[in-house]
Amino acid sequence: MNKKIITKTPKKIRIYGAGGHSQVIREVLEDDGYEVTETYDDKPSGRHYASKNVTSGARENMDGFTHDGYPVIIAVGKNSERAEIADLLKSDFGKVIHKSTIIAPTAKIGDGTVVFAGAIIQPNTIIGEHVIINTGASIDHDNVIGDFAHISPKAALCGHVEVGEGSHVGVGAVVIPTIKIGKWCTIGAGAVVLKDVPDYSTVVGNPGKIIKTKSLNLEHNNTLKPSNITFIGSGISSSFTLLHFLDLLENHKEKRKIRITIIDKYQEFHTGIPYGERSGFSVHLITSLKNFLPEPERSKFIYWLNNNKNWLLDELKKDGGKLSLDWINTHIDKIEHNDWEDLFIPRRFFGWYINEKVKKRLEYFKIKGVIDIDYINGEVIDINRENDNYSLSLRDKKTISSEKVILSIGSLPVRYLWKNEPLVEEKELLFINNPYTPKLTRVLNQIENFVEKKSNKKINVLIVGANASGLELLYKLNDIENIKSRINKFIVLSTQGILPDAVINEERRKKYTPFNLQALVKEKNVTAKIIAEATYKDLDYADEIQLGAASTVDIISKAFGSLLNKLSPEELKKFACHYGNEIGRRQRCAGFHYSKIVDELKKEDRFAHITGRFSDLKQNAIGEYSLEYLDTKSKENKTYEDTVHVIINCVGSTDLTKNDTPELLKNLINKGYCTPNDSKIGLEVNESLEIYKNLHVVGPLLAGNIFDGKAVWHVEHCGRILWLSQVLSKKINAYFFEKSELKEDPL
Ligand SMILES: Cc1cc2nc3c(=O)[nH]c(=O)nc-3n(C[C@H](O)[C@H](O)[C@H](O)COP(=O)(O)OP(=O)(O)OC[C@H]3O[C@@H](n4cnc5c(N)ncnc54)[C@H](O)[C@@H]3O)c2cc1C
Repeated sequence: MNKKIITKTPKKIRIYGAGGHSQVIREVLEDDGYEVTETYDDKPSGRHYASKNVTSGARENMDGFTHDGYPVIIAVGKNSERAEIADLLKSDFGKVIHKSTIIAPTAKIGDGTVVFAGAIIQPNTIIGEHVIINTGASIDHDNVIGDFAHISPKAALCGHVEVGEGSHVGVGAVVIPTIKIGKWCTIGAGAVVLKDVPDYSTVVGNPGKIIKTKSLNLEHNNTLKPSNITFIGSGISSSFTLLHFLDLLENHKEKRKIRITIIDKYQEFHTGIPYGERSGFSVHLITSLKNFLPEPERSKFIYWLNNNKNWLLDELKKDGGKLSLDWINTHIDKIEHNDWEDLFIPRRFFGWYINEKVKKRLEYFKIKGVIDIDYINGEVIDINRENDNYSLSLRDKKTISSEKVILSIGSLPVRYLWKNEPLVEEKELLFINNPYTPKLTRVLNQIENFVEKKSNKKINVLIVGANASGLELLYKLNDIENIKSRINKFIVLSTQGILPDAVINEERRKKYTPFNLQALVKEKNVTAKIIAEATYKDLDYADEIQLGAASTVDIISKAFGSLLNKLSPEELKKFACHYGNEIGRRQRCAGFHYSKIVDELKKEDRFAHITGRFSDLKQNAIGEYSLEYLDTKSKENKTYEDTVHVIINCVGSTDLTKNDTPELLKNLINKGYCTPNDSKIGLEVNESLEIYKNLHVVGPLLAGNIFDGKAVWHVEHCGRILWLSQVLSKKINAYFFEKSELKEDPL
């Protein structure tokens, strides 16, 4: 039965991956007379010391990759990563089978699969593509093992077992006959699986217990059926609106089936940019949980955190480096005692929570027959009103019709600083215009590759913008040892020359009074400008007594309370559009763990902060770049003394007056469906949050509006998003259930 399956001649092969798993594959291949012509790897930090002549960055330059060369074996242990690479490569894939394996002639093995020493595969078993059958694994008759699965050493699968795509069966696990394990599951080491396992679940112990079932990977059905409500964008703004709307649905006696469509240009739903895959697991909230999420949602989230903390911390450890471990060690006591309120938790924790919650609620209402739900992965680029409905056009030319549309597309995109591309790589420069595109981990890999290639050189990194994103990038660069150790100097350029504030100083706060605002309380004739100027003075005073501006946020907000009520509607609007954001910018904050990095780098003399505005880059004779900037204090044009090699743009979003406004918004503005307000970052809406009949907005684009007499100038904070999504959900509910013609059409 000993069968060796190697398909391609001549016996030359390429290996993608240079870690420990790659070493095993190489030895099996070389033992079998293969010549490994090339080895690729995208993560220098994951490379095994024995790997030689490794080519970096193939994944970042797939157009330049020689797809039609010798067959490739993807030697990457993480199943999801193997799947991602397989998707990108257009190459032939080889198979790797150790001489000592026992494989039944009737068994089938897919391309890209590796079977290591001592493994046994019995008759009629089908093994998919890019699977790992590890050392000594035993797979009995009639099994079906899905693509990208991994059966670990000494795992034993009895007859008629099915293992779904991407699932990982741990070392020594036992699976009894006829069990079906879903896709992307994890079966812990030594687990004994006695029952079927649903998709995305983790099983541990003997007898095996399901300890969690993730719900992040939603199926995209991409149906284009006419819809009652379509959400464009699937971040927390649309997710909260949906949750509130579903709560209201529950209270109706008369039911009517509502078809809901959710469209997002990114493949992940119900997390948005900051709380999902695009940000990764090891970046944190800019405030404590207490200041991030209002009650009652906070208590529900904390309950969920307590039940899920073990795997959440595991994911944080996997994604992060030394700084993430430090964060866990510093806070482990509080975490163990379920004391989360003061922690600046990883943002992704919240993303998982919301995703799971929305999906469960949607499934519940679907089962009850109250809603139908469709997910579409695509970018909406235009909307047209046709016969009382909207027709939405997607970039891939599909269209979908909807009665009501909710524009929940988040903040305006990042303003590009240099060249019109998310990332520009040259021999001496890596310029990153948007660190979250396609996702932060990918961009960090590219930085790691770039600095590794320059190992004989002193690399300087420039971060443009001193906001929370700027500090976040500084934190992540220092979290990855391979990057940190290769960087000579970290330079921040910002117009104010001030970093976001780190901690709320409770003691100093007690002594602080916003005297200038308080003095206005008795004034009869106040204007937006008078309130703003008093606020600036109170913030200057906070600076004088060295109370960081972040500590003043709620004190100032409280002082605004009665003063803003005195403003005429026109003056309140002026405050929302002109002054609110300016004040907000002075009160930026970030967590202590972020700002601590700056102190450490300062001690090592590796940090510089330039007060100025980016102008251009100047190239010298050997191709290196220097920064040209306008010194915002002296108003002189200057060139920075050191050359810079990695530049990360963290200046923030564009505005609606600029050419780089997204295509969808440009089209809506040109058609007269919406009007940007004076804030330049928000759209004018009515009290139903409509920009046009049945075309609503929720989230950051609501900036510069007044709701219930309250001015909003910055709709980024989760609490404010939650409030406005509640307002919108009530309007949607009233539309569908208070219209008499709908009541005549019950289920
Ligand atoms: C990096 C980062 C960190 C942040 N950290 C914090 C924090 O710590 N605390 C805090 O309170 N706030 C934070 N914020 C603020 C944040 O913007 C809001 O909290 C919130 O994410 C906004 O939610 P949203 O759903 O409106 O937008 P998003 O999360 O941006 O979601 C919008 C979605 O719309 C999709 N989309 C856009 N255009 C289209 C289109 N034309 N067709 C289809 N889909 C489209 C996008 O892919 C995206 O998934 C942070 C923001 C960022 C970017």
